[in-house]
Amino acid sequence: MRLAGKNCIVTGAAGGIGLETSILFAQNGANTVVMADVKPEALEEAKAKLLKLVPDAADRVFTFKCDVSNEAEIQGMVESIESRGGVDVMFNNAGIMHADDADAVDTPDAIWDLTQKINVKGVWYGCKHAVLSLRKNQKTKGSIINTASVVALVGSATPQLAYTASKGAVLAMTRELAIVHARDGYRFNSLCPAPLNTPLLQEWLGDDKAKRARREIHFPTGRFGEAVEQAHMVLFLASDDASFVTGQEMIVDGGMTKAYVTPE
Ligand code: NAD
Repeated sequence: MRLAGKNCIVTGAAGGIGLETSILFAQNGANTVVMADVKPEALEEAKAKLLKLVPDAADRVFTFKCDVSNEAEIQGMVESIESRGGVDVMFNNAGIMHADDADAVDTPDAIWDLTQKINVKGVWYGCKHAVLSLRKNQKTKGSIINTASVVALVGSATPQLAYTASKGAVLAMTRELAIVHARDGYRFNSLCPAPLNTPLLQEWLGDDKAKRARREIHFPTGRFGEAVEQAHMVLFLASDDASFVTGQEMIVDGGMTKAYVTPE
């Protein structure tokens, strides 16, 4: 019951990290869990999965169709829980990695702009409206968690340049907001996942064995991460257990970014 009394919003909740986090939030007694995504059908399926696991959460879990790159939709979503006391926890997790994202020469302009619009502006809008809600409700604490990536920390020789740049922006933005709002009691942290076993990456890799091997060789543990392993970190950051944790880049990567060479 680490989130008892807290109203939480999770974007990108139709699958992967967002769904696993919504489940943990509901299991940990959150007063409200808003599951938001741009895909309404997948969102309803995700909610049904959650309710199978946490049947007593039916009156606390809501879905909201929201494109995070549209500020009016983010605003509407945040305002939808004002009557329940406003936001306490905002997990800005929605993101894309486009199939046409490439290197400095081959990344199309439109893909660059689309990626920044969703991955950077979407996170900014989420932070902005979380802060407005926290202020409006005169809260003295709040937790905002933004999903970045290990590619914001280490260079990848297999480029998705627009994605990498967008995740670097998420880290820098989160760090600055943490310092700006430290005395308000609003904590901002970013999550840096390693390559995961979620649709975002697995669909992109498909059955291309060489593409997979190019990544797997770098994993000290020898495997992709699981979404639920990220969700446990998000739960910690959302809860008061993390009351003195702000401005941090929480790396959940099976040791990948600390490896020189990996075991044979
Ligand atoms: P996922 O594809 O399962 O989930 C992403 C969700 O975001 C999807 O449900 C999608 O519909 C939603 N989404 C996309 N655009 C949106 C928009 N404009 N508005 C609202 N929702 C939108 O993938 P995931 O791995 O769970 O990804 C979650 C986050 O983790 C992303 O920000 C991703 O960049 C990041 N991440 C993933 C990996 C990985 O290997 N999968 C690694 C590092 C970081």
